[in-house]
Amino acid sequence: MTSVLAVSDCLFCKIRDGEVPAEKLCDDGRLFVISDINPAAPTHVLIIPHQHIETIADLDQASANLVGEAYLTAARIAREQGFAGDGYRVVANCNRDGGQTVFHVHFHLLAGRGMGWPPG
Ligand code: 5GP
Ligand code: ZN
Repeated sequence: MTSVLAVSDCLFCKIRDGEVPAEKLCDDGRLFVISDINPAAPTHVLIIPHQHIETIADLDQASANLVGEAYLTAARIAREQGFAGDGYRVVANCNRDGGQTVFHVHFHLLAGRGMGWPPG
């Protein structure tokens, strides 16, 4: 869903627009990257499309490329920050059972410790 109400109320839209401060690592005009305010690993950043899309279940043919771009961004950050070899995890939570709390699509990039499996 992309309702106007959702956009105006959306935390990540506000961070995108500079209305809420965040440590922005990069921004290519399609995706921007911020540090997570409550890190779950030594490296925990959020890769966020500019476009307001509420959940990964709302992606469509026109927006699906953003997913690949997000993974390429994660791989670039992993190379640049030196943890590509040790490894990392990219996660997108969806709706209640997925543990989503901010309803603007984003990909968590976690690194710097061994990740458990299965996730909690
Ligand atoms: P979700 O739970 O939707 O998968 O992920 C939302 C993430 O956004 C959480 O990891 C949470 O810590 C992070 N977050 C929530 N509010 C803020 C904020 O104001 N600034 C930043 N940088 N991250 C936030
Ligand atoms: Zn938004």
